[in-house]
Amino acid sequence: MAKKHYYDVIVIGGGISGTALLYTLAKYTDIKNIALFEKYNELATLNSNAKGNSQTLHCGDIETNYTLEKAIKTNRTATMVENYGKLYGYDDKYMFKIPKMAIGVGDEEVKFIKARYKEFKKDFPYMKLWSRKDLETIEPALLEGRDKDVDVVAMGTNERYSAVDFGEIAKSFARNAKKENDEIDVHFNKEVDSIKKKGDKYIVTVGSEKYFADYVVVNAGAHSLLLAHQMGHGLDYSCLPIGGSFYYSKINKLKTKVYTIQNPKLPFAAIHGDPDLVHDNTIRFGPTAIALPKLERYHHAHFMDFLESLSPTPAVIEVFYKLMGDKDIRDYAVKNFLYEVPGVRRKLFAKEVQKIVPSLTKDDIVFAEGVGGLRPQVIDKKNKELLLGEAKIDTGDGIVFNMTPSPGATSCLGNAYEDAELICKYLGAKLKTKKFNRELVS
Ligand SMILES: Cc1cc2nc3c(=O)[nH]c(=O)nc-3n(C[C@H](O)[C@H](O)[C@H](O)COP(=O)(O)OP(=O)(O)OC[C@H]3O[C@@H](n4cnc5c(N)ncnc54)[C@H](O)[C@@H]3O)c2cc1C
Repeated sequence: MAKKHYYDVIVIGGGISGTALLYTLAKYTDIKNIALFEKYNELATLNSNAKGNSQTLHCGDIETNYTLEKAIKTNRTATMVENYGKLYGYDDKYMFKIPKMAIGVGDEEVKFIKARYKEFKKDFPYMKLWSRKDLETIEPALLEGRDKDVDVVAMGTNERYSAVDFGEIAKSFARNAKKENDEIDVHFNKEVDSIKKKGDKYIVTVGSEKYFADYVVVNAGAHSLLLAHQMGHGLDYSCLPIGGSFYYSKINKLKTKVYTIQNPKLPFAAIHGDPDLVHDNTIRFGPTAIALPKLERYHHAHFMDFLESLSPTPAVIEVFYKLMGDKDIRDYAVKNFLYEVPGVRRKLFAKEVQKIVPSLTKDDIVFAEGVGGLRPQVIDKKNKELLLGEAKIDTGDGIVFNMTPSPGATSCLGNAYEDAELICKYLGAKLKTKKFNRELVS
C-alpha cells in the first residue's frame, strides 16, 4: 500500500474542529501518520470563518441561556483556546480582550441579571455588576436615546478574551501541527464521498481515489451526520440546519460585546452587538436563526442530502410539533424568518438593534450579504428533543462523528482532547495528558 494512501488517523473537515484535532494529535500524542481532508481549497471557509459566526469565545458568563453547570463546562474549553492563543502570542492578533456584558432592560430583566450575577459570582469571580451609572462610562451607546426611567443593568467584564477570529485560529492549528510533525498531510479540494469499513481498516473514498485508515474522525459540520447515516450510524439523531445572518452598522457606536437576554427554551445565544473583527469601523448585530433546507449556508443546496440528514420520521415531526406548539418559539421562528425577507427585514430587525443601541434606526443598518453560517442543531429522536450544543457519535469501532453547532468553535480543543483520548485508546498510542493540562487547561 503506497504510504500516501494509508494513515493511522484520517480527519475529515478542515474547520476549527478538524484542525484543533490535527494540532492535538500532532502535539500531544505519539501518532505520526495523520491526514486531514478538506473539500474546499482553503481551511475554515464555512462556519469557522470569522464571517460565519459571532466571533465570541463563549465562557457562559454572558450567555444567559447557559445554566451555571453548562457555563462551567464551556468556560473550561474557552480557557483552552485562550491558553493556546497565549502560547503562540496570538493576543491582539487573533483574540481580543474586548469588554463583554449581558444587559437587562426594565424591571423584570434587571431582576434576572442581578439574580444571575449572584448565582455566577463564586465560579466567575471576575464578573462585575454594572449599574446604569457605570454604563454611562463603559458603553454610553446603550443609554443614548433610552427612556431615563427604565432601569438598565449589566453583568460583564473586561478581563477575559471575548472575541476570537476562529478562522485564523483554525489555520494556525494546521500550521502549528505541521511544525510539530512534518509527516502530516493536509489535502485540499478532496471531498470525501463515502467511508466504508473493510476488515480492521476504513476506506475513505474521494472521487476515484481511495485512502485507508485505522481510525477516522468526521468533523464535517452539517455533513457529519449525513456521512454517519450513510454508514448506518447515528440513526437516532437528525440534523436541523439553522442559518444565522448578521446586520452591519457603520455608525460605529459599540466598543463592547453586548449580549441580550435569551429565551432559555432556545438552543442559541441571544442576539448581540459587537465590533466586527474583520471589517474596520463596523458593528455587527445578530445572528438571526432560521431553519434552512441545506447543509451549507452559501453553497448550492443538496436538498436530498438535507433530507437524508434530517430523516423526517414521526419522532422528528413530533419534535417540530412540540416546538411549534410553544407560542414563544412560534413567534421567534416567524420573526426570524421575516428578518431575512428583503423589503421588511431592516425595519423589523431595527427593533432588535434598538434593544442594544436605542439611537440606531433602520437607515443605520444593512443586511450583511454573504455573511453568517449554519448551525447543525441535533434532534435526539429517542428522547424527542432538540439538543442544546454539540453531539458526538462514538461508534467504539474506530470512527467518531462530531456535530458542532454553537459553541463548537469555543469547545474545539475540549472536543479534540476527547477524540484524542478515544483514538489513543483504540490504537494503543500515547496521549500526553500532563503536557496538555499544563499548557492548555490550567
Ligand atoms: C451564526 C453562527 C454564530 C456562531 N457563533 C459562535 C460563537 O460566537 N462562538 C462559538 O464558539 N461558536 C459559534 N458558532 C458555532 C461555530 O461556528 C461552529 O461550532 C464551528 O465553526 C464548527 O466548526 P467545525 O470545524 O466543526 O465545522 P465547519 O467550520 O463547518 O467546518 C467543516 C469543514 O468540513 C468540510 N467538509 C464538509 N464535508 C466534507 C467532506 N465530505 N469532505 C471533506 N471536507 C468536508 C467543510 O468544507 C468545512 O471546512 C456559530 C455558528 C453560527 C452559524
